[in-house]
Amino acid sequence: MRCIVMAVIFTVAVPVLARADAALEKVSFQPQVKGLRCLKAETVTMIRELVEKIGPIQITSTCGGRHARNSQHYRGNAIDFRPLATTPRKAAAVAKTLEAVGGVGSYSNGLVHVDVGDREFAWFGTKRGNRRLAYNARGR
Ligand SMILES: [Zn+2]
Repeated sequence: MRCIVMAVIFTVAVPVLARADAALEKVSFQPQVKGLRCLKAETVTMIRELVEKIGPIQITSTCGGRHARNSQHYRGNAIDFRPLATTPRKAAAVAKTLEAVGGVGSYSNGLVHVDVGDREFAWFGTKRGNRRLAYNARGR
C-alpha cells in the first residue's frame, strides 16, 4: 500500500507554467525538475512545437540530474520526458521531424530525450552508456 501511495506522489504532475501559454499548459514535471527556466529559449520553443504535435508530456529532466559529461542537458539544450498521450516511439519519431531538434533518444524505460544541439546523431538508450544515468535522474 505504501508503495502505491509513493508511486502516486512521485508521478503527480506539477503545473508551474503561465496560463497564457496554451502549449506549455500541456507540460508537467516530476518533482525533482525545477521548471523550464534553466533552458535556452530555443529549447522551450522546441518543447512548445513538440507538445502541439504529440499532446501532454511529463518532463523528467532538464538541466539537472545525472547525465553524460558534456551532455546537452548541462547547456540548457535538452529535456527528457514521458509522453502522456502517445507512445515513446511515436513521440521520438515526431521529435525527429522538428527543425530545431538535433538529437533524439529513446530509453527502454519509456522516456524520450530531445535536444536542440547539433544534429549529429539519433540513438537508442540501449546502445549508449548514459541510459542508466538518465534513469537515475528520475530521482532514484
Ligand atoms: Zn536526456
